[in-house]
Amino acid sequence: MDADDRNAGKTLEPTGLEWDSPMHRLAVAQLDGVALRMGLDQNIWERLRTPQRAMVVSFPFRRDNYETVETVYGYRVQHLLSMGPTKGGLRYDLDVDLGEVTALAMWMTWKCALMGLPFGGAKGGVRVNPRELSRQELQRLTRRFTSEIIDVIGPERDIPAPDLGTDEQVMAWIMDTYSQQRGHSVPGVVTGKPIEIGGSQGRKEATGRGVVACMVEACREMGVALEDTRIVIQGFGNVGGAAARIAAHLGARIVGLSDISGGIHCESGLDMHAVDAWTAETGHLAGLPGSEAVSNQELLELPCDILVPAAIQNQITEQNANALQCRLLVEAANGPTTLEADRILVDRGITCIPDILANAGGVTVSYFEWLQGVQQFFWSEEEVNNRLIELMQRAFREVSTMARAKGVDARTAAMMLGIHRVAEAKRRRGVFP
Ligand code: NAD
Repeated sequence: MDADDRNAGKTLEPTGLEWDSPMHRLAVAQLDGVALRMGLDQNIWERLRTPQRAMVVSFPFRRDNYETVETVYGYRVQHLLSMGPTKGGLRYDLDVDLGEVTALAMWMTWKCALMGLPFGGAKGGVRVNPRELSRQELQRLTRRFTSEIIDVIGPERDIPAPDLGTDEQVMAWIMDTYSQQRGHSVPGVVTGKPIEIGGSQGRKEATGRGVVACMVEACREMGVALEDTRIVIQGFGNVGGAAARIAAHLGARIVGLSDISGGIHCESGLDMHAVDAWTAETGHLAGLPGSEAVSNQELLELPCDILVPAAIQNQITEQNANALQCRLLVEAANGPTTLEADRILVDRGITCIPDILANAGGVTVSYFEWLQGVQQFFWSEEEVNNRLIELMQRAFREVSTMARAKGVDARTAAMMLGIHRVAEAKRRRGVFP
């Protein structure tokens, strides 16, 4: 029987209201579309639509002035426990809620399976604006949040990593808090740690490096050289910054960049050394001498060959999808494109490298970090980068082959590969009891 016939006409009930959010609806709609298309077993399909575990905490957070104690909310969601420990970032952002974190955890599951990593998906976060916090406040918040979720994390259980608004220092505080409470050093509880406490060479730039590896492969398929392309990147943080520097180093022209303060544009190409010097001095991109100011929305519509959303979700929508002027969209951020925008891009013939493939370099080197920690045997930066590029190229080729074989776009193909691997693992393990 053909896969399309097996699931013809099937729909599932909406998931529980607990998870409801625009992002979770997007993640579930993507899963439903692919499940229908591939004829996924309905029992497994239903299991995959909601996370296996979700923890919501509220805790007191003392500000520096010693008088204010705020109540803040934190989350840790583990989508799938069948593949090994769960793995996923921790974000500090005002938009964090259960529905958002749940959607991100589901995408982590597909991403790990697509890359062949022995993890299920997880994600977490705290609803705060990290830019408003002093270093001491950030440290107190992180340590208290770690204590709150200590029973659900651990090297064999669930391993957090950096994401929006968190970095290697935050990971170091989590590792220290966890280790203090366990009574011995447990570096494997987080990845994305500083090198001095068991971090991996190359982890910081890994997501950006993986994004560029996808660009190189996509350019090869399109018959263009990366050095002949103009690139626009939204978000100049860990991921966008590394992608910009590596692509510029390979000869591409970076014509637009942005951060939360706004965007900058320079048709002849931005000098990345000047950009780094400017942001180190001022803390933002706006006002870089020799560049023209653009808004974050205008930035997305600049003429370019490759557009890279590397900031937050929901940036490419029905409203602007028709105005994009790129040939290739590389999703470095998680969930930057809505379902409606996705359809418009497919109709317009704009190739999209989906988030679960494009930004998988981070979790891949997190896996290398975890492996190196378990073996207490550390690799050189060159070894890390070469192995990362090899795995990114392999995943890219598998997605391309699947897309051609099934006549589907790259997102559908990537999800088919990830979901198929997860479904097979669940089928083999069976149901307890
Ligand atoms: P980051 O906090 O280091 O950087 C985020 C950047 O986006 C900053 O330049 C910030 O100013 C900008 N930004 C924030 N809000 C914005 C807004 N409303 N409009 C425009 N720009 C805005 O975060 P990051 O780690 O680089 O993560 C960026 C994206 O990549 C996120 O979607 C994250 O989930 C995804 N991601 C990160 C990793 C990782 O290893 N860090 C891995 C996979 C995916």
